[in-house]
Amino acid sequence: MEKQITFTIDGKTIKASPKDTILTAAEKNGIVIPNLCYNKEVSCTAACRLCIVKIEGRPGFHPSCAMKAADGMKVKAFTDEIEKQRRIILDLLLSAHNDDCINCKKDGDCELQDLAFKYNLGRDSRDFPPIWEQLEETSDSTSQVLDYDATKCIQCQRCIKACQEKQGKGILTFANRGIKTTVTTGYPQWNASLCDGCGECQQACPVGALTMKPVYSPNNRVRQKDIEKTTTTTCPYCGVGCQIDVSTINNRIVKVDGHNDIPNHGSTCVKGRFGLDFVNHPERLTKPLIRKDGKFEEAEWNEALKYTADRLVKIKTEYGSNSVCGLSSARCTNEDNYLFQKFMRSIVGTNNVDHCARL
Ligand code: SF4
Ligand code: SF4
Ligand code: SF4
Repeated sequence: MEKQITFTIDGKTIKASPKDTILTAAEKNGIVIPNLCYNKEVSCTAACRLCIVKIEGRPGFHPSCAMKAADGMKVKAFTDEIEKQRRIILDLLLSAHNDDCINCKKDGDCELQDLAFKYNLGRDSRDFPPIWEQLEETSDSTSQVLDYDATKCIQCQRCIKACQEKQGKGILTFANRGIKTTVTTGYPQWNASLCDGCGECQQACPVGALTMKPVYSPNNRVRQKDIEKTTTTTCPYCGVGCQIDVSTINNRIVKVDGHNDIPNHGSTCVKGRFGLDFVNHPERLTKPLIRKDGKFEEAEWNEALKYTADRLVKIKTEYGSNSVCGLSSARCTNEDNYLFQKFMRSIVGTNNVDHCARL
């Protein structure tokens, strides 16, 4: 069993793994140290500096996300001095941020908005003037599935690291310096880059800088608080079986996120996240079709099943089992496909069975 270390945060005894940082040890013990750039799924960035703490015997402030917890350490996380510094850091972040919450897709689901509210940093209670207006027009909406608003970007790097470390793609980086720093694909426009639209980056963004286009509800922009129901289910696209959270309003899909569980741990590909629009597509086939006089006609399920069974029996009787083949779908579950091949082999009596993933 791994040896535990013991240290204190604001006098409270904390037991943690030697691998823990002060921030992760605090979290595991129910203490939430404010942060914005920390994302436990990627490497430490220590950019936002909101998680600063003081450590007895070491001068200055330290980012708790980057400091390993150690046996006997005495940490202060919420003194008046630290909270005052945090408020200044947040005030500076907000001065470079277009806090147009009223028209923002992340309103109600924004880590920056939550912290600004907690630290009472409304527009009239800030010390630093807005400088975000100095940003040149560097927003980019050319991706088919993403919107990037540079005036809302807090340069936390969560998107860059999610693309690099979770998806292994390395599409994103920063351009420019200072107030003009923006996220870029390195190409003049997002749609010219090698981005495949998986959306991992926008899922990692703590604010409204990188957001999903309203793929599922083209006429309505949807915020998290508008969502009526979220259902965890299995992505229907391939055999990996990624777990996804499908959000619906009035029984229509409006958003898909990766669910944090095996096998995908919160990630999805572009198909899982943005490809479920077929569910509500007006041209989707919802009834079986039987070809009559060369034309497909809608039929009831009982009629279609009887027709298929009769034809299978007739063809098998007249021409033998191997005159029949079955083509299944990689979009069915493993269980459905197992049953299908079992039906073809045991009932129809042929090994002529395949599915669309090999085409
Ligand atoms: S990103 Fe957050 S703080 Fe900024 S405008 Fe949107 S909701 Fe408000
Ligand atoms: S959508 Fe996917 S590939 Fe494109 S930048 Fe974001 S994480 Fe990278
Ligand atoms: S786009 Fe979002 S995740 Fe990326 S750096 Fe800006 S604020 Fe952070």
